[in-house]
Amino acid sequence: MRYTQYLLPTLKENPADAEVISHQLMMRAGMIRKVAAGIYNYMPFGLRSIRKMEQIVREEMDRAGAIECLMPMANPAELWQESGRWEKYGKELLRFKDRKETEFCMGPTHEEVITDIVRNTVKSYRQLPLNLYQIQTKFRDEIRPRFGLMRGREFIMKDAYSFDTDDAGADKAYDRMYQAYRRIFQRCGLKFRAVEADSGAIGGSFSHEFMVLAESGEDAIVSCDACEYAANVEKAELIYRNQLTPVATAELQKVDTPAQKSIEEVAAFLKLKPSQLVKTLIIQTSADEVLAVLLRGDRELNEIKLANLLGVDWALMAEDAVVQKTTGAPTGFAGPIGLNIRVIADREVRGMADFVIGGNAVDVHYTGASLGRDFEVGQFADIRQAVGGDPCPRCDCGKLESWRGIEVGHVFKLGTKYSEAMNATVLDDSGKARTLVMGCYGIGIGRTVAAAIEQNHDENGIIWPLALAPYQVLVSMVNPKDDAVREAAEQLYRQLGELGIEVLLDDRDERPGIKFKDADLIGLPLRLTVGARNLKEGKVELTQRASGEMSLLELGEAATRVRQLVAEALDAD
Ligand code: ATP
Ligand code: MG
Repeated sequence: MRYTQYLLPTLKENPADAEVISHQLMMRAGMIRKVAAGIYNYMPFGLRSIRKMEQIVREEMDRAGAIECLMPMANPAELWQESGRWEKYGKELLRFKDRKETEFCMGPTHEEVITDIVRNTVKSYRQLPLNLYQIQTKFRDEIRPRFGLMRGREFIMKDAYSFDTDDAGADKAYDRMYQAYRRIFQRCGLKFRAVEADSGAIGGSFSHEFMVLAESGEDAIVSCDACEYAANVEKAELIYRNQLTPVATAELQKVDTPAQKSIEEVAAFLKLKPSQLVKTLIIQTSADEVLAVLLRGDRELNEIKLANLLGVDWALMAEDAVVQKTTGAPTGFAGPIGLNIRVIADREVRGMADFVIGGNAVDVHYTGASLGRDFEVGQFADIRQAVGGDPCPRCDCGKLESWRGIEVGHVFKLGTKYSEAMNATVLDDSGKARTLVMGCYGIGIGRTVAAAIEQNHDENGIIWPLALAPYQVLVSMVNPKDDAVREAAEQLYRQLGELGIEVLLDDRDERPGIKFKDADLIGLPLRLTVGARNLKEGKVELTQRASGEMSLLELGEAATRVRQLVAEALDAD
């Protein structure tokens, strides 16, 4: 492609509403343009990267035995009523009516439609297993669309759905998708982790998220430095090997802690470390259900683990008024002594003695408190947030490291949730109807491209991993008015094209400084610079965007050298 015939509207400045790097760079490199909140045009340069991502996904899905189909964006309400999600889904589901007043929604995911396809077309166990996928535009009316393609309202997703007659088959399908996802993100050239994810009410460990590692990621994850264990902190388990029963040595004492509310304030006031305190959180799980949770002072509650433990939808910190009513004191002074509600303590607390707790009165705490002697705990459980340095729950020797990640893919064993609600069955070999066991598997196409940029950039612009780069090489004419330069660059452009290399020719009559700035901004992996000085010696300059490494090549050898580098990076020939 010739730059002069292309549409690549680069920007010098970051747009005001672009908070994260990938959003800024995708705007500045002319990849996307906003149409409305969370709704974007894919500009030509951006679309090429999107299409490459789609192609990698398609090839790996096909290789794993999945079959491509395409479902509509407009979904009839009936199907969603059958599954029960028409009522449950909330405002992310964009609903509308057609001219006959029939209700529809824009598909945010397609379990209902795919289950309808399968129940209508698959009758016998002999037609299974089946895994159908599509690469399609989704709509979710996100409450806070932001970060460009990272959290859009309209976005492209690959979603796949597997159907099996039994659990064993469904587990195999899940594993096949898990492996396919690993290949996909490896081929993209991304640093990622597959982490165990919370699967909420459905339970089991049958949900993994694929996380691209990046500082700006919305998710916190941990992985073991010695074994394969990795998990979203929402889910990460903690164990306490060889926990000894502590011995109380101090006496319980009431102390004044005037205006000291937070753990840090109280610890500093009493000249102790936050880890010598036990904090008492008043938690609400419904309008009238309240309980207390105890944690070591420097720990954070994992609300998701707590909600799963209790079998409730949510477990949140109670409002100040509820705390006052429950403990008789404002927030900041709660403690377990004399509290008449259920108390659950984090397992770590079982190993503590002689600690500080709140006194359920303004400006009062207790020091020298100990379990059993001063108060009782109803239950010990794993309810705190894992952090870097915690021991691995799976192996004996590893420690957890913590990372930030961007969720780009999700594999999920659904079980029979949709097939049961929608009556999707097949006849088994004895003629009996069996409810299908399903799995669903998503990849955010645009989010992965954004995550690739989030992970690979510098202060000058994007550093494309070759597999996702819109073009593989940029040929830059330093001065297109110089006949020799123009001819040599044209020759390279032709040769590279003949070798199957994707090449962008910067044939603009612009100052070299502008061209180099744009070259760094759009970040193609390789750049051949054709300038008069080197050309006199029969040479052109090759620059690698990632390393900044420069070398001079003979004009006649430049194209084959580029081809070799591309083949090496794509692991193909
Ligand atoms: P999130 O927790 O980020 O909202 P999700 O759990 O709702 O994600 P899934 O329903 O599992 O996401 O969707 C599958 C994939 O689609 C995600 O892993 C992600 O890559 C992508 N995705 C989800 N929501 C968006 C969005 N609003 N914009 C872009 N991509 C998205
Ligand atoms: Mg979501």
